[in-house]
Amino acid sequence: MAEKGRVFLERLPKDGDLEEEITKFIKKNNIEKGIVKAIGAVSEAKIGYYNQEEEEYEYTKLNQHLEIVSLLGNISILDGEPMVHAHIALADDEGKTYGGHLAEGTKIFATELYVEEIKGEKKIRTKDKETNLTLW
Ligand code: ZN
Repeated sequence: MAEKGRVFLERLPKDGDLEEEITKFIKKNNIEKGIVKAIGAVSEAKIGYYNQEEEEYEYTKLNQHLEIVSLLGNISILDGEPMVHAHIALADDEGKTYGGHLAEGTKIFATELYVEEIKGEKKIRTKDKETNLTLW
């Protein structure tokens, strides 16, 4: 059974890279397993889509101001280090949404981050042969 650990609410710095800043925050606080959520806005974004036939990520760059409708992810261990895997839904000025795997290259305008630590056994990522992804 998973026991809940610490809970954080944090504002991330303007113009930082969203994925990098979340990763920095979880490493600084030694969070090795947990859930991340966020809302806010970004000034540009990069999202990934996993092509299941080619078994590789395809990326889309969105060069526009967007609302973070929802960011949801988890924290696990990859190569001995805590890492964040997050997906994001973004809305433009007409309310149209884009979504995908959060990639480096998403620039923070304002982001309110929620992090919930889960105690107990770590989730360790290893290469999964069936999908060619690193999964726990
Ligand atoms: Zn993903």
